[in-house]
Amino acid sequence: FQRIVLAARPKGRVSPENFRMETLPQLISSDLAAGEVLVRNHYLSLDPYMRGRMSTAKSYSAPQELDHTMLGATAGVVVASRHAEFSVGDSVVGHLGWAEMGVTQGNLLRQVDAARLPLSVYLGVVGMPGVTAWYGVNRILQAQAGQTLVVSAASGAVGSVVGQLAKLIGCRVVGIAGGEKKCSYVVDQLGFDACVDYKANQTEAELLDCLRAAAPDGIDLLFENVGSSVFDASLACLNPYAKIALCGMIAGYNSASQPLKHANKLLTMRAMLQGFIVTEHMDVWPQALTELAALVASGQLKYHETIAQGLAAAPDAFIGLLSGQNLGKQLVKLS
Ligand code: NDP
Repeated sequence: FQRIVLAARPKGRVSPENFRMETLPQLISSDLAAGEVLVRNHYLSLDPYMRGRMSTAKSYSAPQELDHTMLGATAGVVVASRHAEFSVGDSVVGHLGWAEMGVTQGNLLRQVDAARLPLSVYLGVVGMPGVTAWYGVNRILQAQAGQTLVVSAASGAVGSVVGQLAKLIGCRVVGIAGGEKKCSYVVDQLGFDACVDYKANQTEAELLDCLRAAAPDGIDLLFENVGSSVFDASLACLNPYAKIALCGMIAGYNSASQPLKHANKLLTMRAMLQGFIVTEHMDVWPQALTELAALVASGQLKYHETIAQGLAAAPDAFIGLLSGQNLGKQLVKLS
């Protein structure tokens, strides 16, 4: 079977040379120790946090090791099991990384219902990105009807769920996204009230004008995914006692973030800012996943997937994710 390892740590932008494809002997049931499960992966999730793991910069989790399989969440089907709770044919989500198959402890797998919803969904809207959105909207922002919520990277895996959950609560929802296609997607398909195209409005004045027009009553709640100039423009529009869920700062993952000009607004607006890492809040996952699955099943929560075909396509798809090539959740379908 094939896997992709981290061949070299990126300096600045990620490039294909940072990865290496390897072929390993097929895994078979006799490779399993007690408690282990052999899984054939059908989908690999590509996520921005992987950029952080590729680097040795100090962060909330340890870097991934060179020459080891690239870390990542996967959805697949059990091929062999020596764990009492898993049987051949079960659909599971785990962390088997950028590989066509793998062996893992059964207690690290999550059983999912692929008859109810497509398997891939459990890596996106009913998976880690969905829970991230749920946690930020419900627990940090505690969104309420009538408030204006702004979310950046609005068309992405997390942002698209943030905006829809806030709409269901009754907020006015404004997205910020790169390009006309993404902006019309979140307004026309997902029901956001407005979306600001930061790529078409690159100067600070243009971006601020658009944001003020889209959020004429100011920003009560900010779900921040991007950082840099996009975050700065939202800071400039904060209302008194605004709340900010600081989820990601993707604009700085490949390079240094730009300094913020409007950080003083945190003080003058008496804002509350909370950074968070969703995997530190495992207590909310069961409730969040149950609610998200029900909303998807009833059609109230929509999603889009960008699917690269075959493991070899993963590096380019990941590089694309870090420059906004994806619409919605970026996945790789494994053959
Ligand atoms: P997305 O599906 O949103 O994909 C990433 C998007 O980020 C791109 O499509 C692009 O959208 C935008 N982007 C990429 N590069 C830049 C850039 N230089 N400047 C501005 N925007 C850029 O990814 P996710 O939904 O998975 O993640 C969104 C954010 O949430 C990330 O910051 C991620 O790190 C964070 N996150 C945090 C978690 C936590 O626990 N705190 C958990 C999961 C995600 P566009 O074209 O619109 O710019």
